Amino acid sequence: MPHASPITTDVDFARDGKQFGHLAVPQSTNSAGWAKCLVPITVIRNGDGPTALLFGGNHGDEFEGPVTLLNLARRLRPEQIRGRVIMVPMLNRPAIAAGTRLSPIDGVNMNRAFPGHPGDTITGMIAHYVSSNLLPLADLVIDIHSGGSSMHMLPSVNMHRLENQPQMERMLEAAHAWRAPYIFLYRDVAGAGLLPSHAEQMGKVTLGTEMGSKAQFGVETLGITSRGVDNVLHWAEILVEPPPTGGSGAASQVVEAGDESDYLMAPTSGIFEPLQELGDQIVRGQVIGRLHDIERPQQPPEEIRTESAGILFARRSVPLTAQGECLAVITRVVDPVSTKS
Ligand code: CA
Repeated sequence: MPHASPITTDVDFARDGKQFGHLAVPQSTNSAGWAKCLVPITVIRNGDGPTALLFGGNHGDEFEGPVTLLNLARRLRPEQIRGRVIMVPMLNRPAIAAGTRLSPIDGVNMNRAFPGHPGDTITGMIAHYVSSNLLPLADLVIDIHSGGSSMHMLPSVNMHRLENQPQMERMLEAAHAWRAPYIFLYRDVAGAGLLPSHAEQMGKVTLGTEMGSKAQFGVETLGITSRGVDNVLHWAEILVEPPPTGGSGAASQVVEAGDESDYLMAPTSGIFEPLQELGDQIVRGQVIGRLHDIERPQQPPEEIRTESAGILFARRSVPLTAQGECLAVITRVVDPVSTKS
């Protein structure tokens, strides 16, 4: 017997037309014993057809998703689609308001809280509503991310390498339809409980993204994000007419960081000095950066050497670094058809 969510909503998922509403999450605070945290949700439906479920603001310091989906929610008209588009532009609403990766209320990372439980604190309670009430409605799931405050990244659509080959092929097809510069196959090196992992396990065609970072936020990354969402909605036969900018640009390059050693973590704390930039070709054993010890200036900096070769896909964007924090990600180009590395 599944546990019912204490979250309520004023939108009717079965109704045709466009509805702006909220998910009302129970909250008890110092300023109000009885209160609701209102998470905006938009539902656009035009008869029977597939359902796309689009998320932004899973992390509160990543604004490409909120901007893209707030624009789309206002712009998209029911007559332009067949089926349904459900948008949650600011999934971790308290974190977006604070501009922080994690929720300021309970300190939880939304993208580690899945599948969640109705008895969890606010973040897990929202995750549970998504798992139990929203994901079952969806054929296509898009969770828009970027590197946020801490990582510069090449703009990509991403996914895990799945055991289920037909699902993987369909997801790659959707990813190619996006027309991002890269399709990034990643592995989890910092915990489980991700929204995309949960959607993938439910068999949904699931796309994540890494659209640059807080410092790269701008016209280019927002363009790749919003054109891509339109392109994929058209690929899914939800957006009836092809988007005016759809299909333009070069085909995506498929890259993978499939080994633990592709993710370089800081061996010590210090000031990170990058010596290579995003997109650079890296050879095995190359020094891609240095960590300066702020307490022992006479000490030579710690050299960060790669254990793998490939493209520098991501690097830390904040100089001050604590031991164990990710400094760089190296990817290799894989066959876009078979996705064999
Ligand atoms: Ca993220």
